[in-house]
Amino acid sequence: MGVYLNIDVSEYWCPNEECSDYGKKGKGNVVLKEEYGKKEQRLFRCKTCGHCFSETRGTIFFNLVTPKEEVLRTLAMSANRRFAHLKIRDF
Ligand SMILES: [Zn+2]
Repeated sequence: MGVYLNIDVSEYWCPNEECSDYGKKGKGNVVLKEEYGKKEQRLFRCKTCGHCFSETRGTIFFNLVTPKEEVLRTLAMSANRRFAHLKIRDF
């Protein structure tokens, strides 16, 4: 008890690209699952898709310069390649 109080889960978001809440902060879908390891890394779980991810992994995503653009690009690339470049150019 007490250790979890310093963690603001609203700063974390689901890294599962197939999740409907992927990349969205403050949705309330991310919950702290448990702490593990000697480095006190924390494990989070997305209630929307059930995906589990570590604090370290989340930090990597936070360090993206333009996360929104990366998300859009990832979505475009996973879509039909013929139209992907058109969508990116629109932005
Ligand atoms: Zn999710």
